[in-house]
Amino acid sequence: MKAARLNEYGKAPVLEDIPVPDFQPDEILVNVKACGMCRSDVQLIDGYFRKYADIPTPITLGHEITGVVSKIGNTVPKASGFKEGDHVVVAPGWGDGTCRYCQIGDTQICPNVRWPGFGPVGGFAEFIPVPARYLIKVDSRLKFEELAPLTDAGLTPYRGIKKLRNAGALGPDRVIGVFGIGGLGGYAVQYAKLLGSCAKVIAFGRNAEKLKIATQYGADHVISIKGKSSGDIAKELNQAVGQKDLDAVIDCAGAPEMMQLAFSLLAISGHYADVGLVGDRIDIPLFPRVSHEQTFHGSFWGNYTDLSEVMALATENKIRHTITVFKFDEINENLDLIRTGDIVGRAVMKF
Ligand SMILES: [Zn+2]
Repeated sequence: MKAARLNEYGKAPVLEDIPVPDFQPDEILVNVKACGMCRSDVQLIDGYFRKYADIPTPITLGHEITGVVSKIGNTVPKASGFKEGDHVVVAPGWGDGTCRYCQIGDTQICPNVRWPGFGPVGGFAEFIPVPARYLIKVDSRLKFEELAPLTDAGLTPYRGIKKLRNAGALGPDRVIGVFGIGGLGGYAVQYAKLLGSCAKVIAFGRNAEKLKIATQYGADHVISIKGKSSGDIAKELNQAVGQKDLDAVIDCAGAPEMMQLAFSLLAISGHYADVGLVGDRIDIPLFPRVSHEQTFHGSFWGNYTDLSEVMALATENKIRHTITVFKFDEINENLDLIRTGDIVGRAVMKF
C-alpha cells in the first residue's frame, strides 16, 4: 500500500510502498478514504514534540482519519454492529483502557496513550488497523473530505468550548473571543455559536481572508489584531460589544504573542481554554491572573464522546467547512504550505 512515512526527523516524509499492516483480533482494518493535514504534522517532522515524546521512526503520518471498514478482527463484539463497507471516523488518543483517565473516557490523556499518525500506523496510508472501540460509524451521506478534519481540527475546539461552557463562562451576557482563525478556528467560531448559550462571539486574527470566513461562520464581530496594541483592541472590543474585555477565550493558535494579547483582554473571573500549540513558552504577568481569579484550561484533542457529539452535529448539517482537497502525491507540497501558514481552512488528502 501507499504510505507517507517520516524516516528521519527534519527531513521530508517519503511516499513509499509498504505492506498492508497486520491487525489484532480486537481491531478493524480501515481502508482510508481521506486524511486531514495538521500543523502538528509539520511540528512532528520538525521535532517539536521530541522533548516530550521522542517517537521512534519510521512514523506513518496523518491523524485526521476516515474511511471504510475493510476487515474485522475475530474478537470484535458482534454487538458493536460493524460490518464491511461501513463508513467510519477514527477517534484519536488510544488509551491503555486501565488507568483512571481511560476509565472515565478521557483516553486521549492516558499516560500510555498511542496516537495514529504518531507511530507505526497513520492515515496518510491506504490502510490502518484501529482498535474497534476507537471507531465511530457515520452516515454514508457525509463526505469523507469533510469527516476527516472533524477528528481533530473540528474536535479539539469543540472540547475546549465544552470546558468553557461547563465552567459557566458562556451565556447571553458574556463575550467569548476566538483567537487564531486557521484550521481549528473556523470550527471554533461555529461551536462558540452552537454551545455558547447566546454569548457574543468575537474572532481575532491577522489574516483578512480568514477573518472573513469567521464572519461567514457566524462571528458577531471580527477584530484584526495586526499592528494594534492591546489598548487599541480593547477600545475596538468596547465599541463592538460594550465591554472592553472577554469573559472567555478559546485559543486555537497558542502563539506566544497572541496569548499575551488574549490574556491582557481576559476579564475578571475569565476562563481561558488553549488548544493551540504554535509556541512552546509564554511570559505573562501573574498578578492579574490571581487577583482577577482567572482560570486556564488545558484542553487536549477530544475523547470518543466529544467526537460522537461532533458527528451528531455533522449528521444534522450543523457544521460548515473550508477545505482544500489534495492528492496523496501532493503531501509534501501541502506540508510546506502549512509551514508557511498559506492554507486557508483545512487541507485534506483524499485517495
Ligand atoms: Zn489509560
